[in-house]
Amino acid sequence: MAEIVATNQTILVVGGGISGMTAALEAAECGKQVILVEKNPTVGGRVSQLYRYFPKLCHPTCGMEINLKRLRANKNVRLMTMTEVTGVSGDAGNYSVSLKINPRFVNENCTTCGACGEAVDVQFDDEHNYGLGQRKGAYLPHAMAYPQRYVIDPRIIGTADADKAKSACPVNAIDLNMKGESAKLTVGAIIWATGWRPFDANKIQPYGYDRIANVITSVEFERLADPHGPTGGKILRPSDNKEAKNIAFIQCAGSRDRNYLKHCSRICCMASLKQSTYVREKFGDEGKASIYYIDIRAIDRIDDFHQMVKNDPNVTFVKSKVARIDEDKSTGNPVLHGVNTEGYQRYANPHDLVVLAVGMEPSVPVGDFPIKVTVNEHGFIEQDESNGAIFAAGCSSDALDVNRAVQSATASALRAIQVVNRAAGMEG
Ligand SMILES: Cc1cc2nc3c(=O)[nH]c(=O)nc-3n(C[C@H](O)[C@H](O)[C@H](O)COP(=O)(O)OP(=O)(O)OC[C@H]3O[C@@H](n4cnc5c(N)ncnc54)[C@H](O)[C@@H]3O)c2cc1C
Repeated sequence: MAEIVATNQTILVVGGGISGMTAALEAAECGKQVILVEKNPTVGGRVSQLYRYFPKLCHPTCGMEINLKRLRANKNVRLMTMTEVTGVSGDAGNYSVSLKINPRFVNENCTTCGACGEAVDVQFDDEHNYGLGQRKGAYLPHAMAYPQRYVIDPRIIGTADADKAKSACPVNAIDLNMKGESAKLTVGAIIWATGWRPFDANKIQPYGYDRIANVITSVEFERLADPHGPTGGKILRPSDNKEAKNIAFIQCAGSRDRNYLKHCSRICCMASLKQSTYVREKFGDEGKASIYYIDIRAIDRIDDFHQMVKNDPNVTFVKSKVARIDEDKSTGNPVLHGVNTEGYQRYANPHDLVVLAVGMEPSVPVGDFPIKVTVNEHGFIEQDESNGAIFAAGCSSDALDVNRAVQSATASALRAIQVVNRAAGMEG
C-alpha cells in the first residue's frame, strides 16, 4: 500500500486536463494541499492533442507551458499520474478515497534520451494520434509530456523487447519489477475533472466512417494538421497519402440527433471554422473547404472569427444536413448526398477528404462513477446539493471550450476551498 499524506484539509482533483490542472493550481495557490490524479502517463488531456486554439489560432502548448511552470513551482500539489480512483465513501468534509496506481516501469532517473524506444521493436497504435500512427512499446507520450519521462507499455513486460529496453538505458531508469499499488486517503472535497471523449463516429452509419478510408473525425484532423502528428503536419488522405486539398466538414455529425447524441456540443462549429483555416494555411489558394451545416452556432467574440472565415472565398458554406456518404471507388473520394436547403437543390458532391465534426460526451459513463453523483440527461455532472463536496470542473460538467472550462474549474476550486475551510473551522 502506497503511503500518501492527506487529511480532510486536502482537496482531491481527479483528471489532469486543462480543467483539472487549473482547479488544482487555483486551490494550491490559495495555500490548500491538493492531490491531482491523472489516469494517463501525462497531464494535459485532450487540449494537448489540438493543433491550434480558436479564436486566436495560437498553439495550446503555450497555455500548457504556463500551467506546467505553475505546477512545477508549487509544492502544495502532489501530482500522481497513471492513477485512478477506485472507490469513494463518506460525506462533504470527510471522504475516504481508494486509488489504484499503475506501474510506469520507468523511474525518475529517466532523462528522455530515447535509447529504450530505439531498442524496442514492437509498435502499438498511438493513443495521442487517435490511432492514426504507431508508437514504440517504450515511448514518450508526446513532445510536451509532463512528467518528461518514458513509459514502458505493460504489453511488452515479460518479452525480449522489455529486456532490450532495460539494457539500452544508460541511467538505470527502467525497473521491470515495478508493481501496481493501491492507496487509501482522506480528503475534504473532490473536484471531478475527467473531461470528455469524442462521440463514436462508427455509430453514424450513413456517414461511412467505418468503411470509407477518407472519412475521418475532427479530433483526428487536429492530429493530421499538427507538425508533431503522424504526417508531420501534412494533410494527407488515409487511403493513398495524397494531399487532401478539397475538404468537406460536416457539422453536427451525430449531434442534435435523437438517434445518437441529443445535445449540441457548442464548440464543433468553431472547431470546423478553425480547421478550415488549416486548409488555407497548408495549401494557400489551392485549398478548398466546404462546411455543411444546419446552423452555425458562434456567438459573442467568436462571431468575429465566423465572419472572418465567411470572407474567405475558398470556404463554401452549404446549408444542409448531409443525408449519406458513398465512396467513389475509382478515386477514393467520399461523395456527399443531400439537399441544399437554400434553393432546395439535390447534390452529389465529391471531396478529397471528409471531416466529421463529432460531438463531446462525458468521458466517464454514468454507471462508472465510484460514488453516486447527480448527472443530467446527457451524463454531465450537475451542480447539485446531493453531490455533497464533489464538484465538477470543465467538460465533466458540460461540453465547453477551454475558456469556459477554465472558468468552471476556478469556480469548483473556490467551492472546494469553502468546504475544507468549514471543516477546519469545525475542528478548531
Ligand atoms: C475537434 C475539437 C477541437 C477543439 N478545439 C478547441 C479550440 O480550438 N479551442 C477551445 O477553446 N476548445 C477547443 N475544443 C474543446 C477542448 O478540447 C475542451 O474545452 C478541453 O479539452 C476541456 O478540458 P478538460 O480538462 O475539461 O477535459 P479533457 O481535456 O478531456 O481532460 C480530462 C482529463 O481527465 C483524465 N481522466 C479521464 N478519466 C479519468 C479517471 N477516471 N481518472 C483520472 N483521470 C481521468 C483524462 O485522461 C484527461 O487528462 C475542441 C474540441 C474538439 C472536439
